[in-house]
Amino acid sequence: MKKLADIGLIGLAVMGENLVLNMESKGYTVAVFNRTVEKVDKFVNGRGAGKNFIGAHSIEEFVASLEKPRKVMMLVKAGKPVDDFIEMVIPHLEPGDIIIDGGNSHFPDTIRRTKYVESKGLLYIGTGVSGGEEGALKGPSIMPGGSPAAWPHVKEIFQAVSAKVDGEACCDWVGEGGAGHFVKMVHNGIEYGDMQIITEAYQLMKDLLGMTNQEMHEVFAKWNEEELDSYLIEITRDILGYKDENGEETVNFILDTAGQKGTGKWTGISALDLGIPLTLIGESVFARCLSAQKDLRVQASKVLNGPKPQFDGDREKFLDDLKMALYGAKIISYAQGYNLMMEAAKEFGWNLNYGGIALMWRGGCIIRSAFLGDIKKAFENNPELPNLLLDPFFKEKIEGAQAGWRRVSAAALSNGIPVPAITSALCYFDGFRTERLPANLLQAQRDYFGAHTYERTDKPRGEFFHTNWTGRG
Ligand code: NAP
Repeated sequence: MKKLADIGLIGLAVMGENLVLNMESKGYTVAVFNRTVEKVDKFVNGRGAGKNFIGAHSIEEFVASLEKPRKVMMLVKAGKPVDDFIEMVIPHLEPGDIIIDGGNSHFPDTIRRTKYVESKGLLYIGTGVSGGEEGALKGPSIMPGGSPAAWPHVKEIFQAVSAKVDGEACCDWVGEGGAGHFVKMVHNGIEYGDMQIITEAYQLMKDLLGMTNQEMHEVFAKWNEEELDSYLIEITRDILGYKDENGEETVNFILDTAGQKGTGKWTGISALDLGIPLTLIGESVFARCLSAQKDLRVQASKVLNGPKPQFDGDREKFLDDLKMALYGAKIISYAQGYNLMMEAAKEFGWNLNYGGIALMWRGGCIIRSAFLGDIKKAFENNPELPNLLLDPFFKEKIEGAQAGWRRVSAAALSNGIPVPAITSALCYFDGFRTERLPANLLQAQRDYFGAHTYERTDKPRGEFFHTNWTGRG
């Protein structure tokens, strides 16, 4: 009898094709299916030729080719296609079979789908898969959540194909329901933040220091050997050093309007819903929105005047300060992202392993960096750590970064160069370490116009007072 497949995958696009090639290379037999069925044969006879793939031309054939409990993984466009395929496969599955969504689904959808699929006697996994095309092929970061009973059945395959750092798989069980997709969403939000602070550094180097792309390429190359060692610094180094066949520096010709697919926005919305100050990621999403208002900016640039950037200081010293500004802002971004995950865990009843999440992000994904190793250690030292800034290592680092970070922020503001993520992160740092914020006045205002009441510093918490501020009845 023909060997059955260890796992099946629906969706032979960029991610699906590369992930199944990765799975096959680890010794698994994989059944494949795609909405546009011609792509199945194209793949099986093309990149998949001579390998252990079973190409299916219908859902029935696909499901029949799977070993039990059947593992049906989807890597299709997020949204309705996922629901459609769930409906299509359910009638062919048996209790205990597992449906897996590896796309960028929004976590509330995954919460809903987990409940629905479980109600049919089946198991469900919603998993983040990060690392793009290359990650999928060579080892992505994988963040699975959903039905806990499904995990033992997929653990071996997932950990075999995931990235490894120091021999440890960048894949572990995240939690119930939508926990895996929530963590992937925060990963993407952090990716927005990391990219934004790098682009702010680029603009300062270019417009304030007047550096060439080659000079910036060298700075990023140096930074990639130090605290900021990460995939995004590495690709920025390469982009700034890249010339096309005519010797032109491609980055100079790229239109300055940023695209986005929505995961940064979801992260920001989730922070607003949960009441968490996720300022750096929020600013990063808005910075993309501002960049997209190109025509309006062109118009405004002809009308609205500001200072002409001028730098007459020590360039090397400023670059050291800039590195510290990036480092400080990055610590804030991760502290805020972790804060959001902690609040979501409370809200949705997830038991998240924060050190484990840092390990999952340590390799294989877009935000991979040496820095995540330090975050992992912080949560290993204290699994109950309420905020990354209260960890002794990060306290020392952020305090050490702040002098340079403040000088960079001041220079940017006085020279009219927009660095919203770097400066808002500094404001968060100052707000977070301030015992008494001006919210006393704000509460008074709320009480004045809306009789919203306030608590007093000289009375127990939970007692509310109202003042007749105008003396009128
Ligand atoms: P994609 O362009 O998001 O989706 C293409 C796949 O979805 C194809 O198999 C396509 O089938 C199928 N599809 C599209 N609309 C459909 C519909 N209405 N009904 C049924 N199937 C439909 O592919 P991708 O870039 O490989 O991404 C797959 C998933 O991974 C997405 O959720 C994406 O957000 C996520 N992801 C992507 C990346 C990346 O770097 N690309 C990284 C991480 C996560 P046809 O061939 O028939 O059109």
